[in-house]
Amino acid sequence: MTDDGQGARTGVRAGIVATGSELLTGRITDRNGPWVAERLGELGVEVSHLLLVGDRAEDMAAALRFLAGDGVDLVVTTGGLGPTADDLTGEVVAAETGRPLELDEHMEKVVGDIIAKFADRLRWDADALAAANRKQAMVPRGATPIRPAGTAPGLAVPPDAERGGPTVLVLPGPPREVRAMWDDALATDPVREVLARTEPYAETHLRLFGVPESEIAATLRDVGEQTDLEPLEITTCLRDFTLEVDLRHAPGSTAGATARDAVIAEIDRRHGRTVFSRTGQSVDELLFDLLDGQVVATAESCTGGLLAGRLTAPAGASAHVAGGVVSYSNDAKADLLGVPRELIETHGAVSPQVAEAMADGALARFGATVSVAITGVAGPGGGTEAKPVGYVCFCVRTADGRTLARDPVLPGERGDIRERSVVLAIHLIRRVLTGDGEPAPV
Ligand code: ATP
Repeated sequence: MTDDGQGARTGVRAGIVATGSELLTGRITDRNGPWVAERLGELGVEVSHLLLVGDRAEDMAAALRFLAGDGVDLVVTTGGLGPTADDLTGEVVAAETGRPLELDEHMEKVVGDIIAKFADRLRWDADALAAANRKQAMVPRGATPIRPAGTAPGLAVPPDAERGGPTVLVLPGPPREVRAMWDDALATDPVREVLARTEPYAETHLRLFGVPESEIAATLRDVGEQTDLEPLEITTCLRDFTLEVDLRHAPGSTAGATARDAVIAEIDRRHGRTVFSRTGQSVDELLFDLLDGQVVATAESCTGGLLAGRLTAPAGASAHVAGGVVSYSNDAKADLLGVPRELIETHGAVSPQVAEAMADGALARFGATVSVAITGVAGPGGGTEAKPVGYVCFCVRTADGRTLARDPVLPGERGDIRERSVVLAIHLIRRVLTGDGEPAPV
């Protein structure tokens, strides 16, 4: 796969089928499909379809037929492998791949030993127990069973030697079991054979903060007028107020590399100040590394501790987070952070002056090397013409005298304003610590 003209859509393609009627009623949200999709993506497999189907055999069969007809190389199913009558995936896969079900005696024993542990609690009689074991130990002829993490074994079913079709990997429903069985599933012969055909894509992951998706879309359109972007797969996604731009092309495709370089050059030219990561690292990960050797303290009003919560989310945060003050009331600002009451009376609790005094207070109170203060109007009430809902004042200060302050009006409702404030504060700390000058617009 080294020729020009190779599109991004080459290599091994997969479809995922998450089964379970509760996924369709909205009672539970699919946690298997996206997880499997991400793992397959990491292995260089392109996921073309993620289907949710109910527990009816004909719906499952239709999904498998659709994917086989679409020519995918691999199908991963989750759910419907248990001992009860509505757990039909094994039977349906066997029928669709033309492989009769046969009892795997080793699996019957493995499942039997596992179920025996639950048997008392389930109050199943011996016959029901034996039937449940047998049902779960039925393996389509030629398929490889996968040791259960719960009670249900998985199956790796190879394509039919004559008819072809996809390799089918059958996993149980509970997300914990899917994750626990994944490595064993990858190690089965049928799955290894299909994965051996993948060639990892060349990937670039840009992360931007402070640029609307529409501007990137316009930039990409303009690049597309000069350069053929067909060999490049471009996905943009707004997540956590961060614009993620992922570029992928087939390995060795010089047309793909040319398109990628053109896109990156134009993004850098127009939006360079907003690009903070070129490796896909999140701002939290970047900040975690930057805080090595620092002592950080927070002073929060409208975010009520959300920033401190986020800074302390990763394991190991105690190495650099000293603590924080949630100073929601004026008294708390004065009493806990030493903000002068006259300052609050003169400028208001939401003001750049008070934010700066809060940051000073946090630095002093915690003996920190860097502090960050947030005070704002999260709404829905409390806005004025001069200080509307969304007006938030930030101040980052370092013990050696550097300051970065901002007071934007943030869009959105109360929840958005609070969440966005946290992300902006993290970017401001990052910029102070990297000496990355004036921050990009919010
Ligand atoms: P087992 O017999 O080990 O439970 P199973 O394959 O029969 O395996 P299901 O009956 O399909 O599993 O699902 C069991 C439970 O797992 C569901 O009730 C649900 O709580 C959870 N589950 C199944 N599929 C999903 C999914 N795609 N996303 C999130 N949760 C799921």
